Amino acid sequence: MCRDVHGLASVSFAELWAELLPLGRDERSGGYRRYSWTESDAACRGWFAATAARLGLLAECDRNGNLWAWWEPSADGLAIVTGSHLDSVPDGGAFDGPLGVVSAFAAVGRLRATGFRPARPVAIAAFTEEEGARFGVACLGSRLLTGAIDPATARRLRDRDGVSLAEAMQTADRDPALLGSDDELLARLGACVELHIEQGSALAGLGAAIGVAAGIWPHGRWRLDFAGRADHAGTTRLADRRDPMLPFAATVLAARAAAERHGALATVGKVTAEPGAANAISAAVHAWLDARAPDDTALADVVADVWDLARQESARHGVEVSRAEESVTPAVSFDTALRDRVTAVLAAAGAPAPVLATGAGHDAGVLASRIPATMLFVRNPTGVSHAPGEHAEPADCEAGVEALAAVIADLAGQ
Ligand SMILES: [Zn+2]
Repeated sequence: MCRDVHGLASVSFAELWAELLPLGRDERSGGYRRYSWTESDAACRGWFAATAARLGLLAECDRNGNLWAWWEPSADGLAIVTGSHLDSVPDGGAFDGPLGVVSAFAAVGRLRATGFRPARPVAIAAFTEEEGARFGVACLGSRLLTGAIDPATARRLRDRDGVSLAEAMQTADRDPALLGSDDELLARLGACVELHIEQGSALAGLGAAIGVAAGIWPHGRWRLDFAGRADHAGTTRLADRRDPMLPFAATVLAARAAAERHGALATVGKVTAEPGAANAISAAVHAWLDARAPDDTALADVVADVWDLARQESARHGVEVSRAEESVTPAVSFDTALRDRVTAVLAAAGAPAPVLATGAGHDAGVLASRIPATMLFVRNPTGVSHAPGEHAEPADCEAGVEALAAVIADLAGQ
C-alpha cells in the first residue's frame, strides 16, 4: 500500500472504483440493485466508511441516513460539499451516483497528496435514496435534510413489500424518529458541487469530457390507479368488461403525445397489474408517470393532458381512476456566480467545460434551495443511463477527478 506525506494511504480512482464495483450487482442482469436500507446498501455504507478512514476523513451518518466524510471539519468557514449518491434504480448502471462519490474521494486524495490543506472544511456526501427506487420519492435523503418533505410523511412511505421507511431504518439500526430538516448541519455548508455522469450524450456531440450544469428541468412522478373488475378472459363478453388495462394503455400513448406537444419528456416505466393472471381481466392496474419539461408550465400542461385523457378513457370503460403526486421538483437554476466561478476554474485548468441543462433530478438540485450549488457532468459516450450499459471512459473519469480537484482547491483554498 502506498502512503502519502501524511502517512495516509493514497487512493486512486481506479482502485476505489474496482472496490465498489461488485457491491449490489445482480449477476444475471449485470445491473445494480442498491436499494436503501438493504444488505447491498449496508455494503456500500461500509465501503464509504472504510474509504473515509483510509483518507483520514471523519465519517458520519446524519439524522436522515445521509453519509458524510469530513476533511478538516473544524477549519473556519463554511464547508464545500461534494459527492453524490450510492443507491441505484432497479438494474441501474455503475456510474449514476457512485461516479460522484468515488471521484470526490479520489479528488480529495489527490489534493492531499500534493500537500494542499483546505482553508475551510470539505465534505464528501452520499445522499440516501436518491433514486427513490425503494420508497418512491426521489432525492429523499436531501429532501429530508432540507425540509422539503415532512418527516412523518417520509416515515410512512412503503416499499413494494409493504415495509415502511421507518421499519426499514429500524432494521438497519437507525432511529426514524430523528428524520427531518437538519438546520444545524445545513448551517455548516457553504456550497455544493456534485459530479455526475451525464445522462444524455450532449458532451459527446460537443467533443468535451466535462460539462457544467446550467439547471435542472422541473420534473415529477405521479401514480395512477385504474380500478376495474376482475373477470374470466374466456367467458366475459367484450361489452360486459370493465378492463383497467384499456384506459391504462391509452394513457401511455397519451403521455407520449403530450410530451411531443409540449417539448417535454414523459415516461411510464413501471406498471403492475392485479391479480396479474394471463387468462383474467385485471382488477386493477397501477402505473407511474414520470414527466419532465423545460419549464413549470409545460410540465403542468403535460400532466393535465395525460390526466384528462386517463379520466375520459376510464369513464368510457367503466373504470375508476385516481392519481397521487409522489414527488414534484420545480425548475432549478443553479447559482450563477458559483457556476461562473467553476467554469472559469476549469477554463484556467485547460479543460473548458460547456454549460448544459438536464432533465434528470439530483441532490444538488435539492440543496440548491438552501445553499449555492452546481454540478459537473462527465461525458457518457452513448448517453445510456439507468441501465447496465451506462458507461464513461476511464480517461474521462480521470478528467472528472482532475476537474473536481481543481474546483475544490479553488473553493476551499485560502
Ligand atoms: Zn444520480
